[in-house]
Amino acid sequence: MLTIKQIIKETPANIMKRSFEVQVKPMKSMLWLNKEPDTPEAYNEFIIKTSRPGIQHKIHNNIIRVFRRDRVWVTCDCDFFKYNCEFSLNRSGSTDILHSNGSMPKIKNPFLRNLACIHIISCFMYLQRKGLIST
Ligand SMILES: [Zn+2]
Repeated sequence: MLTIKQIIKETPANIMKRSFEVQVKPMKSMLWLNKEPDTPEAYNEFIIKTSRPGIQHKIHNNIIRVFRRDRVWVTCDCDFFKYNCEFSLNRSGSTDILHSNGSMPKIKNPFLRNLACIHIISCFMYLQRKGLIST
């Protein structure tokens, strides 16, 4: 499973920049699900709605699970995540195949970069601002 830092490092600068335009609306947070806080399987889960103002003001649903040592599992229901991110992040154990058909993104992400979409990045930034993740 990847760390938040690793995902941010592999996400292109234009996505990082555009993530600042995304509005974040936290819906629910659940702390230390699954196990006792000290165990590696325990995580904090954040359910967040995101949207980018513009012509297509779509609302996206994000789930961010933060495990020990800032390892993360994420998902977003946007097309960019589905076609560019889901396959590679799934190989690293940082998401599940929920939106795509699970086939390799030969054209969109041929080198399988562990990048995220603007919505996931904006959720990371939000959680950082709130002091809920450490990086
Ligand atoms: Zn997204």
